[in-house]
Amino acid sequence: MAGVLPRQSASRLSASGLSGVGLRTRAERDILAVMTELLYQRDAYLRKFEATVVDRCEGGVVLDRTAFYPGGGGQQPDRGTLYLGDQSRSVTGFRWENDALVHLVDGEPPPVGTIIRGEIDWEFRYRMMRTHTALHLLCGVIWREYGAQVTGGQMYPDRARMDFSLDQFGPERVRRIEARVNEEIAAGRPVRVKFLPREEAFQVPDLIRTRVNLLPPTITMVRIVEIEGVDLQADGGTHVANTREVGGVRIVKTENKGKVNKRLEIVLVDSPVVAT
Ligand SMILES: [Zn+2]
Repeated sequence: MAGVLPRQSASRLSASGLSGVGLRTRAERDILAVMTELLYQRDAYLRKFEATVVDRCEGGVVLDRTAFYPGGGGQQPDRGTLYLGDQSRSVTGFRWENDALVHLVDGEPPPVGTIIRGEIDWEFRYRMMRTHTALHLLCGVIWREYGAQVTGGQMYPDRARMDFSLDQFGPERVRRIEARVNEEIAAGRPVRVKFLPREEAFQVPDLIRTRVNLLPPTITMVRIVEIEGVDLQADGGTHVANTREVGGVRIVKTENKGKVNKRLEIVLVDSPVVAT
């Protein structure tokens, strides 16, 4: 989704010197998520992983690496389980503590040094990935057809809403957008993730509309999610690898959120919706 600041790996940010400052904004928290290697950023299909507990606090642990998406940018946090020997702990949520991403668990958090196996709730995550990718298609199509930018959005496992700076969403427009989005799904477009140096990202014309120039100066590498030929965004979330995996999208509701702000609600369906 637009406006999502990519998180970075520890090595690039170790010299940022921001650790310990009072955290207020999401952007600052993103920069400081440096202790844990975020495996989902490079492989959204990773369901199981092994990791070591590197810190422990009331109700949770910090891992050296994780496949769990902790939420943000409109995408809901993962659920899942940590296994340690013959025991297990459900992951109930996430919390940011200074520069650390805490996995909250039910029951006693395992001690520092414990090697755990993590497993994410794949059914939930995969639906989030499909929904998230559907929203990118929606952004790309509405940008292409009407030059309208995204002003906000929220995802759920099988539906989502997104706001655009548009003056009107008549029934004709809605049908047209729905048809175009489903065409792009059926076209089987590849979805690619790359990491670009900040200066290079600034040179990509399509990224300007996602306000990549507003990224804090401490972000030296920008994570880019591209749907070939349709959409390109700086983004920290998880997506499917090919638009065909989205299935299909139906626009179920439109809402007036202001003179030039319109909301669309979509649901996922299992196959592309064919225009009638
Ligand atoms: Zn996104």
